[in-house]
Amino acid sequence: MLVDEVTITLHAGSGGNGAVAFQKVRRAKGPTGADGGNGASIYFEGVSDIGALAPLASRRLIEAENGMNGRGQFIDGRRGEEMTIKVPTGTTIRNTETGLQAEITKVGERLLAVAGGKGGRGNFKFRASTNTTPMEAEMGEQGDIATYELQLRLIADVGFIGLPNAGKSSLLNELTAAKSKVGSYAFTTLEPNLGAFYGLIIADIPGLIEGASIGKGLGIKFLKHIERTRVLFHLVSAESEDVVRDYMAVRSELFAYNPTLGEKKEIVFLTKSDMLSSDELHTILKTLKNSNIDAIAISILEPSSLELVRKALQKLQS
Ligand code: GDP
Ligand code: MG
Repeated sequence: MLVDEVTITLHAGSGGNGAVAFQKVRRAKGPTGADGGNGASIYFEGVSDIGALAPLASRRLIEAENGMNGRGQFIDGRRGEEMTIKVPTGTTIRNTETGLQAEITKVGERLLAVAGGKGGRGNFKFRASTNTTPMEAEMGEQGDIATYELQLRLIADVGFIGLPNAGKSSLLNELTAAKSKVGSYAFTTLEPNLGAFYGLIIADIPGLIEGASIGKGLGIKFLKHIERTRVLFHLVSAESEDVVRDYMAVRSELFAYNPTLGEKKEIVFLTKSDMLSSDELHTILKTLKNSNIDAIAISILEPSSLELVRKALQKLQS
């Protein structure tokens, strides 16, 4: 199951306390209290593994190491070991308290999540000509605490859109089963499927139906997954009573949700072409054309038409 949403609380380490100590050697009474170590900070870092949020789902709280207290004889406390939380690129990170939001878009990109507390200074640092036996030392600072909501927005290259039953899942399976790795992941919400076609990530977005953009349907959950795709493959079933209406229904959902989605490059496929006679098919394609929709007729049952889809995908790789 692909985890795409996680809420997690992070405690950075607190700083160690500074020490109050003096030379043990008689007569030399100078201060030797050393500093506390800094508490560990926690960072987020982008990785390419889209499953990276999964290990976080079972961990509500992550605590980083505290700095150790300083000791006498100038022995500083050890600093806490810094922690890195790996998140897939495309993860939006929101601080639930402040509402501040950032996004990790590149592999290796780092973001400070919670800062460790500074270690306190030991009494050696407080020595002065007027005070050769300072009894003063600082406490370490508390580490930051914050709760973050992590949300993965997949950066798929190609998004399959269309009404339910348009043939999106079937096409994804056809394209990715033969030579490529197929990943079929259940999302924490519903189930968009992901497939890889020679390194291109294809997202099959289920449930895009009328009203999705206003939260009516299931699609709203998934529209966010296609925001970053380079190209949309818009599938319209040849079985439809009214192909133009079906096409427009999906288009208006896209626009309503996010106008930039509506401006994305789109390739239209008329699916299940095997269900029609070539005359019927011709008529439908013409109907679409009259509405300025250039569609490519395909069927998963016909290897030659699948080749057309592969060609379109291969063009995207260059
Ligand atoms: P989705 O809801 O868009 O993912 O559609 P599906 O891939 O689940 O397909 C819906 C139905 O159409 C299934 O019963 C498929 O077997 C069928 N189907 C998909 N592609 C074709 C095709 O090219 N030809 C025919 N005859 N049926 C198809
Ligand atoms: Mg489907």
